[in-house]
Order: sequence, then structure tokens, then C-alpha cells
Amino acid sequence: MSVVAKRVLVTGGAGFLGSHLCERLVAHGDDVLCVDNYFTGRKDNVADLLGDPHFEAMRHDITHSLFVEVDEIYNLACPASPIHYQFDPVQTTKTSVIGAINMLGLAKRVKAKIFQASTSEVYGDPSLHPQPESYRGNVNPIGPRACYDEGKRCAETLFFDYFRQHKLKIRVARIFNTYGPRMHPNDGRVVSNFIVQALRGAPLTIYGDGSQTRAFCFVDDLIEGFLRLMAAADQVTGPINLGNPHETAVAELAELVIALTGSRSTITSCPLPIDDPVQRCPDIGQAKALLDWQPTTSLKEGLSRTIAYFDKLLSRRGAMEGGKIKLPSH
Ligand code: NAD
Ligand code: UDP
Repeated sequence: MSVVAKRVLVTGGAGFLGSHLCERLVAHGDDVLCVDNYFTGRKDNVADLLGDPHFEAMRHDITHSLFVEVDEIYNLACPASPIHYQFDPVQTTKTSVIGAINMLGLAKRVKAKIFQASTSEVYGDPSLHPQPESYRGNVNPIGPRACYDEGKRCAETLFFDYFRQHKLKIRVARIFNTYGPRMHPNDGRVVSNFIVQALRGAPLTIYGDGSQTRAFCFVDDLIEGFLRLMAAADQVTGPINLGNPHETAVAELAELVIALTGSRSTITSCPLPIDDPVQRCPDIGQAKALLDWQPTTSLKEGLSRTIAYFDKLLSRRGAMEGGKIKLPSH
């Protein structure tokens, strides 16, 4: 008997994480439908997949109903970088909440298993370190980050209500800062900013005094965690933290990027954004125990691979623009 390929929907599939996920699923032999409105995603991210008969891309905004037949759904659609999710905060909340309702409704109709890309932002500016899944968070509900944080919190609520009320098979991952090739060069996140600045010889912009920490996970490690969570037994619903437990101060990251790029960039201090969490680091005990998962890529190795990607991207753009490196606008 031949094994029938699974039909997998990836919303936000043309984004940074989504494109890596689509690649892994296609390589695994699944039939992948990538749905994206291209707000922060790019066709370039999935260009190599477009000729594959197991891959299909559809322009669609998940705040509108979607009628397709699939076996599994990964719901990743939502801008993830603060400058992008704050650009149109009402749309961010709609994407998180109405988008989740639409995708959960679809999952219910076609009896699909559904994965939600939640976030460490549900913990807000945490008072407990590292953050376990049982920590309920410290989120400002009316600040500039709230459209994202509260939108994602409400999406988690919806996932668990559909689980209890409609017996849906759900998986909820709380993703901590992840980086790697295909991050948008202009997306304002710290890793992409520092690498692009270092490669251009521009000053690295540290917000505040740089003592705030994040824990940076390389994209390949994270995607492995997604796949393990989706394949886990149905009682493993999450929420489950996925991230690298190695905590790094932002100033330390800047020094490392300068060293790895061999750049002569200096460092400049900029104001700290409102509600910027002081410290963030996952407790991944559950992921280790339930998924036998933990990151294996060191920060140095992951940064080197990301630097190589941006170096190539910027030289290509530089060549296209007569040697003058100009970053794309979004
Ligand atoms: P990204 O911005 O690169 O990708 C998001 C994708 O969703 C983009 O392709 C965008 O065009 C698409 N999108 C946005 N709104 C949409 C809508 N209404 N309809 C259809 N498509 C839409 O960001 P990413 O880093 O790849 O993040 C993917 C998911 O993972 C997001 O849900 C994000 O909240 C979550 N996450 C990411 C991180 C991280 O560090 N990268 C951390 C925590 C959570
Ligand atoms: N940050 C910084 N310089 C930059 C971009 C970000 O110092 O050019 C800081 C930011 O203030 C935060 C940390 O780096 O403390 C991580 O920011 P990012 O936007 O990547 O993710 P998030 O705040 O959502 O964790």
C-alpha cells in the first residue's frame, strides 16, 4: 500500500520561520500549501520551492475565511518584529485573534491537527527567571507591544477553548527569540540589525545600556522542535517553550557580531523602547522531557551562518544597485 502524503497548510509560510518550515515539510514528502499576504514575507523566501510539485503558494489574508482541505495546519501568520507588528497594531490583533478563529474553524471543519506559533511575549516583562510554562506573565495590556502580546494570549485562549469545547487536536509552542538566514534585513530585530550594521560598517545601535538579555535560538533547531511537537502524542498540547536557554546580554551580542564579521563598526547607544523586557530566557524542561528536544547550534555557529547569508544578500543588492548597498524598504 502506498503511503499518501500529508496535506499541510502553513500560514505565514513565506516569512522567516514559515519558509524554513515549508522547506523541511516538502523535504519530508508532505504536500505543502503556503498561505501568506506578503506583509513581511517575501516570495524570494520560497522561490526555490516554487517548482516543486509538493509545494503551492497562495496569496491570502487569514483574517478572511479560507476553504481548503488539509490534514495539518501550522498557524504562523503574524508579523513578529516590534516595528512591523506596531506599524498597524489593529491589523496585528486581527491577525492574531480573527486569524486564529478562522484557522481553528477550518481545523474543526476538516478535522485537522493545528499548531499555533505563540511567543515568549505572553510572559511580558517577566518577574520570574527562567520562564516556565506555568508562569502567567506580566503584560501591559495597553502599551505599544500589547497588540502582539495580548493578541497572542487571546489566540492561546481560543486554542484551548477549541480543544476543550470541540475536542480539536492542538499544539501550542511559545517561541523565544529565533534568528537565522531569511530574516528580513529591515525587520528591526536585534540580530538582523547588528549583522547588517556590522557588514555595512555602520554603528551598532544598542537600545538602552545593552544589559537586557535575550536567549537566541538558531532557526534549524526551532523548526526541529515544531516538527517534534506536531508529531507528539495528542495529550501533548503545550503550551510548551521552544528556545535556546543560553542567555546573552544585548551588548555581548554586539561584541560577538563585530568579532565574527571582522567589522570596524563602533557601538552607539539609542533610547530603550517602551516596555522592552529586561530579561528573557526559556525554561525548556518540558520540551526536553516530552519531545526529547533541545537546541544544538551554538550562538557563534548560528551567527556565522546568518552572517554568511546577509553578506551574500547585501553584496547581491550592492551589485544590483551599482555597488551602492541600499537596504530594501518594506
Ligand atoms: P515573519 O514576519 O517573517 O513571518 C510572518 C509571516 O506572516 C509573513 O510572511 C507575513 O507576510 C505573514 N502574515 C502576516 N499577517 C498575515 C495575515 N493576516 N495573513 C496571512 N499572512 C500574514 O515572522 P517570523 O519570525 O517568521 O514569525 C513567524 C511566527 O512565529 C509569528 O506568528 C510570530 O509571532 C512567531 N514567533 C516568532 C519569533 C521569532 O523570534 N522569529 C518569536 C516568537 C514568536
Ligand atoms: N535591540 C537593540 N538594538 C537593535 C534592535 C534591538 O539593542 O538595533 C534590543 C531591543 O531593545 C531588545 C533586544 O534587543 O532589548 C531584542 O529585540 P528584538 O526586537 O530582536 O526582539 P524582542 O524585543 O521582541 O525580544
